[in-house]
Amino acid sequence: MFAGCVCCLIAAFLILRWSGTSFAFDRVKSAVKFVLFGPLLASSVAAVPGALIYVVLQQDSSEFLSHWRLWWFGDALGLLILTPLLIGVIRFVQNGIPAFNWAKLAEFLLLCTVLMLLGPHFLEPAGGSFFEFYVTPVLMLPFGIWAAVRMGVPGAVLVVAMISAMTVDSLLGGAYLYAATNPQYAVWLAQELLAIVSLVSVGLAVLLAEIRQQNILLERRIEERTESLQAANNALNAANDRLQQLASLDFLTGITNRRYFYENAQRVLQRCRQEKSNVSVIMFDLDHFKKINDQYGHETGDEVLRSITKPVTHTLRPLDLFSRTGGEEFLVLLPSVQLEEAAIIAERIRHAVAGIVVEASGARINVAISLGVAQWDGNESLQRLVSRVDQAMYDAKNAGRNCVRIALPPS
Ligand code: GH3
Ligand code: MG
Ligand code: MG
Repeated sequence: MFAGCVCCLIAAFLILRWSGTSFAFDRVKSAVKFVLFGPLLASSVAAVPGALIYVVLQQDSSEFLSHWRLWWFGDALGLLILTPLLIGVIRFVQNGIPAFNWAKLAEFLLLCTVLMLLGPHFLEPAGGSFFEFYVTPVLMLPFGIWAAVRMGVPGAVLVVAMISAMTVDSLLGGAYLYAATNPQYAVWLAQELLAIVSLVSVGLAVLLAEIRQQNILLERRIEERTESLQAANNALNAANDRLQQLASLDFLTGITNRRYFYENAQRVLQRCRQEKSNVSVIMFDLDHFKKINDQYGHETGDEVLRSITKPVTHTLRPLDLFSRTGGEEFLVLLPSVQLEEAAIIAERIRHAVAGIVVEASGARINVAISLGVAQWDGNESLQRLVSRVDQAMYDAKNAGRNCVRIALPPS
């Protein structure tokens, strides 16, 4: 008894030292350590003084090995069956009733009932006969496997305990398994049977639990990877959008650039061709801008260019295209607008720019523009439309500047 306690303590110490707080009976690593240090190591050491006492009492040293074997195997089996059961009870006390579903409980009760009905037939000494089928105790193993697969480690542990109790009860009742000829042999066979049932059932349950946990870990890792990939993808998309935006914008004024204008104007013309709707275009150019540059410097020239975008944008609708297409030259595309209306808008733009005063080195600079207006004829190319509006703008320059001129219809 004393030797057994000491060996169990040593086994517990070794398990704790090697596993620490990570010991969990439903993990393969922990279960292997338990079998190694408990039933195999602690019990075999504990069996030595036990067997020695028998040998000394009986004064027959030739019997040492068989006493040791009986002692060790009984002890090991006790540990194998009872330890998981005790761990389960301790967990139950510590954590309370685990979340279980009623269907599983009903299945477990069914399993127990069938086992209790059939078990005694399986345990009959010379192999029972059940409905003309010859049955042996090994047929109790499927019940352990059933519990392991369907109810996990706790289910397997409980069913193994039940099978053990039934086997011991049958043994105490004088029924020797497989028609064993003496009690020692019968005990040995019963122990062997229980060791197999216990190792297979609980081992399988532990293995399945490990696989389940590994799957959860794997799924979590895949989820994390997917999330980080998604985040990287979003960042890449945002960077792409930003690049696209930068490639479409004029760095000085912040409005759209020539590239953006031609790409999108082409698209607008295509759509309007299908919808058979009007499109008009306005081109304007700063008057005597070179003089401003020469007189007040390039920086002030830039400031003048920047100053016109806001007032012009305010005269337009959000769907109109307004771009800086050259040094001091701008284009406006007006979908669904006909010539007369476009001329009014051009006049409004001219007026808005004429009101701008840029202050530089104590001077007040007035800004003026000359504008051309043209209506798309519904068929001509964008280049042809732009060249007509360009001509109208030069007409405005020739007419004395700071005015609007309308393009002739295409010839
Ligand atoms: P007009 O009334 O006939 O249009 O005369 P203008 O002086 O405005 O036209 P011109 O073509 O002779 O000169 C345009 C000037 O615009 C020359 C060029 O240095 C200046 N310019 C072009 N791009 C920029 C720019 O980004 N910043 C500044 N500050 N000046 C620019
Ligand atoms: Mg100019
Ligand atoms: Mg110019």
